[in-house]
Amino acid sequence: MRERSGQGCFPGRARVRSLALNRFGFRSGFTPNQTPQAITILDTETKNTATCRRCGECCRKGGPALHTQDKGLFTGKNAVDLSQVVTLRAGEPAFDQVRGRVAPLPGELLKLKGANQDWTCVFFNAGENACGLYDRRPAECRALFCQDTTELAAMYEQDRLTRRDLLPRGHGVLAVMAEHEALVPPARIAALAEALRAGGAEAQDAEFELTRMALADRAFRQSLTERAGIAAEYHEFFFGRGAEALFAATGLCLRADVRRGVRVQPDPFWRV
Ligand code: SF4
Repeated sequence: MRERSGQGCFPGRARVRSLALNRFGFRSGFTPNQTPQAITILDTETKNTATCRRCGECCRKGGPALHTQDKGLFTGKNAVDLSQVVTLRAGEPAFDQVRGRVAPLPGELLKLKGANQDWTCVFFNAGENACGLYDRRPAECRALFCQDTTELAAMYEQDRLTRRDLLPRGHGVLAVMAEHEALVPPARIAALAEALRAGGAEAQDAEFELTRMALADRAFRQSLTERAGIAAEYHEFFFGRGAEALFAATGLCLRADVRRGVRVQPDPFWRV
């Protein structure tokens, strides 16, 4: 998500890989009935204790995926704003906490964004080691205890919130999202990346399709701002992560190209 900087293969490359893994890294939980002040680090020395040490490590590894029981976060006073949410679309590679491996997502999910070019949850107050949403923190945050993830595993894939759950039925942007999904399908990217890396006759077709996807993705985002007046910080909610981030997760990078606008090429330093 944070790898927006580069036109080339090198800027942000190391970050891309670590983000892919850290984003869904295990997050230790907080015990209920604690105020934000009370969740300041109490014990940073003790290892392997049976209770949560409230170290905040989980929040630094990434915000939670959201579930239908979290829908209330988006209403009322201090509601979570859609600009604080990123959509991970079906078919994107993501780290599966329960299975412990990177795999294509079987379905869409929404997730609290990271803050400042990092995966640290946008609601984590690093200075106080505290959660800014503590009293109504998301279901995964309530369920997760890093030393015993049974509760999290039981609800992990259940009732995940999607964009459609948060948008009014019939909203005009739904059709635009569907069109974007059809033209920039994350599930295609890994196979195309493999074909591009393999070289040969199919590589040219793969590069053509990837370039088309990158340009289409860019056009959708520009259009959302220019025609619908929706600011860039909302784009990751409406369209998910940009093509540059999706490509980077499969070892591809984008370079500026005078003639075509963008060029897709394998990252020579990428390792699975
Ligand atoms: S919502 Fe709160 S508890 Fe959950 S990851 Fe963010 S800062 Fe941590």
